[in-house]
Amino acid sequence: MDELVHREEPSPNWDERDERISMVVLHYTDMPSVDAAIARLCDPAAKVSSHYVISEEGEVVRLVPESKRAWHAGRSFWRGKSNVNGASIGIELHNPGHTCGYRPFPDAQIEALVPLLHRIVRTHDIPRANVVGHSDVAPQRKLDPGELFPWDRLAQYRLALPRPAKLKLGDPFDNDGAFYLALERFGYDVSDGKKAVEAFQRRWRPGKIDGETDGEVRAILFQLLLDRDSGKTR
Ligand SMILES: [Zn+2]
Repeated sequence: MDELVHREEPSPNWDERDERISMVVLHYTDMPSVDAAIARLCDPAAKVSSHYVISEEGEVVRLVPESKRAWHAGRSFWRGKSNVNGASIGIELHNPGHTCGYRPFPDAQIEALVPLLHRIVRTHDIPRANVVGHSDVAPQRKLDPGELFPWDRLAQYRLALPRPAKLKLGDPFDNDGAFYLALERFGYDVSDGKKAVEAFQRRWRPGKIDGETDGEVRAILFQLLLDRDSGKTR
């Protein structure tokens, strides 16, 4: 077996990929226990799966080989692409979630995620702007991995985009239409604007998640787009 994977629990819930791998989607399990989560992800009737599950103790379980398409993202959208499962690797972090008692992700869990994610992005040459949360690709339906997920830890290892350090003052967008256009350009499905802004806040400004496009939210988005387009944060 492989040094970063502790156990295999093969799931029957996969099919063939129709696209090159170019994204990673992070989830929480939203289940009372990791065993219950794995059982569900391996249940043919549930028709869901992920490539990996990581327990709170840091055990990494592989359910589906990376070469196959796992069924983790459901109806989803990112940067113009609506078939996220076909192009992504899905990692479930066990956490009871907003349904069963949301709590911080323990260090042991993140310490198991970091080398696994590092290997995945290196193997498939995945830009860190495409390491996203389920709520980023399904803002109308999903909250995971949620506002307690330590994106800054991943950013330290260059495995996710950092939050912009310095924000320019002033309002970079003339009106809401311009803001939503920019939000879609960054990646989000903006067909429900308030939900899209909530997902953006959950990822980039978790201290206040209200779906309002205030000045700080507008400045963060503007800086993210500038950084990404200038190639600083590929
Ligand atoms: Zn999810």
